[in-house]
Amino acid sequence: MRNLVQGLLDLIYPPPAGCPLCGAGRDQGFCQSCLDRMAPLMGLPYCETCGRFLVSAAAQNPCQTCRATSQPYLRNRSVAPHEGVFKDLIHALKYNRRLWLAPPLGRMMASVAKADTAYREVRVIVPIPLAPDRLRERRFNQSLLLAREIGFELGLRVVDALVRQEQTPHQTGMDAVARRANVKGVFAVRKGRLVRGQTVVLVDDVFTTGSTVAEASRELLQAGAAEVLSLTFTTGKN
Ligand SMILES: [Zn+2]
Ligand SMILES: [Zn+2]
Repeated sequence: MRNLVQGLLDLIYPPPAGCPLCGAGRDQGFCQSCLDRMAPLMGLPYCETCGRFLVSAAAQNPCQTCRATSQPYLRNRSVAPHEGVFKDLIHALKYNRRLWLAPPLGRMMASVAKADTAYREVRVIVPIPLAPDRLRERRFNQSLLLAREIGFELGLRVVDALVRQEQTPHQTGMDAVARRANVKGVFAVRKGRLVRGQTVVLVDDVFTTGSTVAEASRELLQAGAAEVLSLTFTTGKN
């Protein structure tokens, strides 16, 4: 199935010969200059609950936010902070339609999950859905593309168990309180029997305040999921 989907995507959006981000060189895989931009943003300390990267020397683990509030999801992990080349990668995938970036990005996310024992219990991958009109506009859901690659790498089933019920304003620029109100009640569960009793990992491209993941987690738990974890490509810093 993956090969079929990938084959179709390759037909519509042939990957460039060189570096999947900047096109430099002729080799497959990221070029040295893109890798050099990635290196300083990888391997940073992170909050063991929300996965936000702890940059200040005084930052505590779990972070201040996670100490103050409990979350419905067990934990979130991300590849890197949402800045520099990692922000560029997400932007290129989502807005410049460089769909061939989903496999390498998904593989990076899978290796983060493989390195964390908490993800060993996961049996089902659920991508965060787009609202129907946003999906019509963009024509693909970046989270689903990432989830498919992660599922392939980890040998796990991807289930589109969530639907987004209505359009919500873009969350960019909203604070945590506004984001929470904006996503309240927007998700509904379908194919509930496939998540009941299972440990589920939610997959999304970016974790900002965590309000989307929290709301989706509540719905899945309500539908009988045993535990919910989250895996995103980038997250904010603390
Ligand atoms: Zn490059
Ligand atoms: Zn935290």
